[in-house]
Amino acid sequence: MKIMKFGGTSVGTAEAIQQTAGILVDAFHEMPDQPPVAVVSAMGGVTNLLLEHARAAADGDEDAGMRLHQKLLDRHFTALHDLVPDEHDRSALFEEIEQQIDRCTQLVESVSVLRDLSPRAEDWIVSFGERLSSVLVAGTIEALGVRSTPVASDSYLVTDGVFGGASPLMEESRRRAHETFTPLLSSRTIPVVTGFFGASEAGVVTTLGRGGSDYAATVLGALLDATEVVIWTDVDGVLSADPRLVPDARTLSTISFAEATELAYFGAKVIHPRTVQPAIEYGMAIRIRNTFNPEHPGTRMGPEPAKNGSVKAITAIGGVSVVTVEGAGLIGVAGITARVFSAIGRGGFNVYMISQASSQHSLSFAVRGEDAPAIIQLLEDEFELDLIRQRLLRIWEDPGVAIIAIVGAGMRGTPGVSGRLFMTLGDARINIVTIAQGSSELNISCVVNESEIARAVPLIHQEFGLAEGDAPGD
Ligand code: ADP
Ligand code: ASP
Ligand code: MG
Repeated sequence: MKIMKFGGTSVGTAEAIQQTAGILVDAFHEMPDQPPVAVVSAMGGVTNLLLEHARAAADGDEDAGMRLHQKLLDRHFTALHDLVPDEHDRSALFEEIEQQIDRCTQLVESVSVLRDLSPRAEDWIVSFGERLSSVLVAGTIEALGVRSTPVASDSYLVTDGVFGGASPLMEESRRRAHETFTPLLSSRTIPVVTGFFGASEAGVVTTLGRGGSDYAATVLGALLDATEVVIWTDVDGVLSADPRLVPDARTLSTISFAEATELAYFGAKVIHPRTVQPAIEYGMAIRIRNTFNPEHPGTRMGPEPAKNGSVKAITAIGGVSVVTVEGAGLIGVAGITARVFSAIGRGGFNVYMISQASSQHSLSFAVRGEDAPAIIQLLEDEFELDLIRQRLLRIWEDPGVAIIAIVGAGMRGTPGVSGRLFMTLGDARINIVTIAQGSSELNISCVVNESEIARAVPLIHQEFGLAEGDAPGD
């Protein structure tokens, strides 16, 4: 069983879809009795387009629906025109695509009537990007002479119903996945499955979060007992740094699940942070490969701990705020830390890193900038009495910062790594706001001003000799 996921760039234009369909058709011809299962993202930029127009509609823009309609038609019809030469087949696909676009436009128009975009409506609207791309990709495969059909993932992926960040219910989904896919595969049909979303038990569409198609692919792999999931994207694999910041970043041939999770968690966009979870739990390997350079073997992710090397990769995440809770009252008051983090947990917010400096009676933690105001409000409510009694003096936010993390299992027990990191930043006169080291010693992270990312990341990458042509660290 082969699961192949193709991201937004890999289905972003007619040429890219042609390339994607070619990879799938080649895999099919290798083993026609076991067709690959494709999982696709929306055409690059379409998810953002849907969100922007839905939000504009909620703000009272009455033309948002019509504008969206036109843009979706242009984008998908142009691609379809280049991809399916047969006029009869093409007009059937035109119709299917137009119906989906009409449906989506109606939803956006209802949003502008209501002037309200609920999380439920938003998830439903953004699911149309994948619904449309799956029709295009399946149509292209058929035009290449192999049977293929689009599959909307709300037909089998049952979720817990949490909008914008749903989790799959595996047992129920497994039964439905087998019902959906077994007949297709045994009739030698390539299913082209929408990534990104599923539906609650009541059938309400729920997305897995932005970038969630990677996760959708490994979840499907787990449901269908796949041994490997290939994530096809627009770079050769997991690189030692974001290639947009470090052009000579090196492709890592292998990386452990634990390392990949750390990288994803601290901003490496190449995989969604939850992608490896099903792989660990159900024993699959993950490979990252380049749709536009299919000769390259890519990066293999597996459970094996790294054997050698120290720092493997560096990543950065911007748009972060540091929230600090400070006061003499923090000293010796057992349970304050617990109260801080249980309040944040109740709000469902994610904390990137924590540092506590007892000499200054303060506790600082890094969170997404957009979450900071709500977190501060939660803490002010939680500590209302303490604030009145002045036991806790202040709670404040330092916005506009970024976290830089260096990742590598080989750092464990290697002395001097953090020294080199901080020396590099010090020599460049880049101020460090806070520091944390994961207790697993898989990562060392620090907070700097967001404006320093572009300078700091290449310098650290160079200091640890991670570039292409340097001695390999993996
Ligand atoms: P897709 O649309 O295929 O899901 P994404 O844009 O989500 O692709 O992720 C791939 C992008 O991630 C690459 O084009 C690259 O710019 C970015 N990226 C950031 N950090 C890394 C890294 N360490 N290794 C590889 N790519 C990275
Ligand atoms: N299309 C969705 C997004 O842009 C999901 C994905 O591509 O992974 O977030
Ligand atoms: Mg992605």
